[in-house]
Amino acid sequence: MRLAVLKERRAGETRVAATPETAKKLAALGCHVAVEAGAGLASGFTDAAYAEAGAEICTDAAATLFGAGVVLKVRAPLGAGEGEVDELALMHRGALLVGTLEAGANPGRAEAYAAMGLEACAMELLPRTTRAQSMDILSSQANLAGYRAVIEAAGAFDRGFPMLMTAAGTIPAANVFIMGAGVAGLQAIATGRRLGGRVSATDVRPAAKEEIKSLGASFVGYEDEESKNAQTAGGYAKQLSADFYAKQAEVVAAHIAKQDIVVTTALVQGRKAPTLVTQAMVDSMKPGSVIVDIAADAGGNCAATRPGELFITPNGVKILGYTNWPGRICAAASALYARNLLTFITTFWDKEAQAPKLPEGDDIVQGVTLTRAGAVIHPSLTATKAA
Ligand code: NAD
Repeated sequence: MRLAVLKERRAGETRVAATPETAKKLAALGCHVAVEAGAGLASGFTDAAYAEAGAEICTDAAATLFGAGVVLKVRAPLGAGEGEVDELALMHRGALLVGTLEAGANPGRAEAYAAMGLEACAMELLPRTTRAQSMDILSSQANLAGYRAVIEAAGAFDRGFPMLMTAAGTIPAANVFIMGAGVAGLQAIATGRRLGGRVSATDVRPAAKEEIKSLGASFVGYEDEESKNAQTAGGYAKQLSADFYAKQAEVVAAHIAKQDIVVTTALVQGRKAPTLVTQAMVDSMKPGSVIVDIAADAGGNCAATRPGELFITPNGVKILGYTNWPGRICAAASALYARNLLTFITTFWDKEAQAPKLPEGDDIVQGVTLTRAGAVIHPSLTATKAA
């Protein structure tokens, strides 16, 4: 079975879907691993390292994809008119495509996979079960994003995080507020604490309050009957009422005015990120304060965020609205992402066929499969179409 690893061509993507470490393990499984030249360079993995791991280095996308039964990607392959190469058109009919495919937000993408006869697996749709944990790309990437966000906040902040007692006087500890305490937020809390900040956090899911406290941060937030049911069966936050968001904003407003660093990570699955930091809140902050908006990819949690940019407001607040936070710590992000995909392939590897076989009744397979045998089959896409 030929397994292809392409160079990522989407703007700003620095990660790669297999590392020399995982290429070696895939080869040991029985795959003929074909890696496009330069695929790992942005993450620090050279062609020589892949070759040493047993991979074949191919000159371009066409040569890499030729005859490949499995294709590993970070982001969705480029389609017609999306860039210099139509990667999709180069794929082998019936191939298994595994990556972060984001078909829900990109109409027509799943249909294109179906038209190519691909078995397309969108790993961001993985169910949040214990068995799936080691394949969970959202968790592995969010964890690193949370860490990186705090490190970049510390770099942009003109004071220190810890209380610094010197002969020349004392510098107070930074007040650090984390909004959203999921995987990224919890790592941001831990990182902020390690750096010596005075950390507080908020979330709408009731379970998050104890998790925040267990990491040594204080909880700030509005709670009512609605927030007692703020979590879906899948573990994600639900979309809440405008009234709830208004009351939450009242509680948060007074707190934000006293913060030096605000890191926002709040997401509601499948929707634009909720606005948690209003323009008035930004205006209330001291000059030199830093806001890091990890949710910038999903529209941002801060009203003043300019996605993809570092923006300094007229009152001197720095807003880091970069997108693709995992891509800002790409060597580690690639290493974990590649291991997530390796686990997926290994879990469904059929020794006799020497190829992955995805059983239709398996909950992980049902969760991630967008297309099979020329048809779009994922319920989230077929339901949208029927509605
Ligand atoms: P996410 O990325 O969807 O959202 C980030 C956080 O923002 C969440 O904690 C969410 O509750 C919060 N949020 C949403 N709206 C908000 C608002 N208005 N104000 C404040 N916070 C708001 O979430 P995630 O990081 O993917 O994690 C969600 C949950 O799933 C967590 O409890 C996590 O531990 C759990 N999880 C479980 C597994 C597993 O069991 N395999 C794997 C990963 C995550």
